[in-house]
Amino acid sequence: MKTYKAVIIGAGPAGHSCAVRIAQLGGKAAIIERDYIGGICTNWGCTPSKAMIESAKVACEVENSGHYGVNVKVYQVDFQAIATRRDKVVKQTREYITDLLNHHNVDIYQGEANINAPDTVQVRYGKLNNETYQMDYTGEEETLQTENIILATGSKSLIPGFIEQDDPTIVSSHRLITIDDRPESLTIVGGGVIGMEFATIFSNLGSQVTVVELLPRVLSMMDPDISDEINRLMEEKGVRILTNHKVTALTHGILKAVNQDTQEEVEVKSAMNLIAIGRTAVLQDELLNRFGLDYTRKGIDVDDTMQTSVPGIWAIGDATGKSILAHCGIQQGIVCAENIMRDKHEKPRLMDYSVIPAVVYSLPEIFSIGIVPEEMSNVRVVKVPFAVNLRANIEEHTDGFIKLWIRDQKVIAAQAIGYMVSEIQQELANMIALGTNVDDVAKIVHAHPTYNEIIRSALEYAEGKAVDFYI
Ligand SMILES: Cc1cc2nc3c(=O)[nH]c(=O)nc-3n(C[C@H](O)[C@H](O)[C@H](O)COP(=O)(O)OP(=O)(O)OC[C@H]3O[C@@H](n4cnc5c(N)ncnc54)[C@H](O)[C@@H]3O)c2cc1C
Repeated sequence: MKTYKAVIIGAGPAGHSCAVRIAQLGGKAAIIERDYIGGICTNWGCTPSKAMIESAKVACEVENSGHYGVNVKVYQVDFQAIATRRDKVVKQTREYITDLLNHHNVDIYQGEANINAPDTVQVRYGKLNNETYQMDYTGEEETLQTENIILATGSKSLIPGFIEQDDPTIVSSHRLITIDDRPESLTIVGGGVIGMEFATIFSNLGSQVTVVELLPRVLSMMDPDISDEINRLMEEKGVRILTNHKVTALTHGILKAVNQDTQEEVEVKSAMNLIAIGRTAVLQDELLNRFGLDYTRKGIDVDDTMQTSVPGIWAIGDATGKSILAHCGIQQGIVCAENIMRDKHEKPRLMDYSVIPAVVYSLPEIFSIGIVPEEMSNVRVVKVPFAVNLRANIEEHTDGFIKLWIRDQKVIAAQAIGYMVSEIQQELANMIALGTNVDDVAKIVHAHPTYNEIIRSALEYAEGKAVDFYI
């Protein structure tokens, strides 16, 4: 029987990062995957969605090219070429991760993992069918011996009870991200991150998009100003957004929803209907119960070292229900690996959830970092529009703003909507994580003209001494 320091179930970002760090620290790791290497993120989530958003962005830029004196009279969205490019990017990323695992001598097993005991895992070998995306099991099995088992089993789309499973117009993100033909019309149930990113993709590529959201605003986890701004900008682009609407039925492509204020009923007929009401941890209840692992419907319980309630069994990534973000899973994977490999007299490394950036790759992009305080005494809130930023003006990307929450000279939360803001958020994340004084960063020279300069402008504005604008 092969023996390992750790057997990791699931080769998503959490699992493969954990495997690599264990190997770097001298442990022999195995990873078992019943789908493609790379998990949801590489194959069905982050990578294909961002590849398609890039096409949407190019379409949007071509649409606006006349503003820059470049007249593109006719252009055509070739959706099949977009899909081919998406699939190529996914395949390259998957191959890159496989190569990375091989480079670190991590043994990769393709098949379904089952825990037999806290120190043995059984692999039911399979081969993935590239047409059906289903696993064809070969009938072969193997049992692996291990000191540690790491559950990195990820999450799946939540599908509500009213959905007719056999309605061909209804899809989850898992299916929509693989399509090769653009639907003429798309209704999205759920105005959260995934819903708004798909609305961005398809509205910019020419589909008629409707978003139906139960709550009074889209992106309800963000500041209301952000929700209002993205709502306004998307509606300007022709997306129909129905907030405060409860879906009551969805059959044969016809969605019925009730306005919760007026009780008025609306009907929307679309070629495709995406259900994007959230994701839930992949839990094998029978297995978790058999070994007495504590869990809730949200995810497997772990402490800050990533240990479950059963010694030797660890959990990381979406399966823990702590967040549905790849970078959180990656960090959990690293923390878990370092705790498995540490000398027992060394202090464990603890996972810190206080600064996990969240990005929405809409057009324009959105980010949120830190925790907006409920208690606002001694908190200064500043909001600076991109309209005061020179680079944004030069490039005509003046929509949006940055908003900072500052207490005792330190930024405690930051949110923004604006062109490519995902690329400027890390400075604020570092400030929050390190507890840096506003003044100390405002004094650092920021290159001119850059979008990033808005951070210096906002920090100085918070101190009442912005030199580059007034409001
Ligand atoms: C459309 C979409 C877009 C997204 N975009 C972003 C983004 O831009 N940024 C971001 O941070 N996050 C994004 N996410 C979320 C991100 O994909 C997840 O947070 C991330 O994939 C979680 O990583 P993970 O390693 O925990 O699990 P996963 O990536 O879900 O991987 C878990 C793996 O475990 C395997 N597995 C489960 N059970 C078994 C078993 N018994 N045997 C063998 N294998 C098993 C599964 O097949 C799966 O491949 C997006 C998600 C979606 C759906």
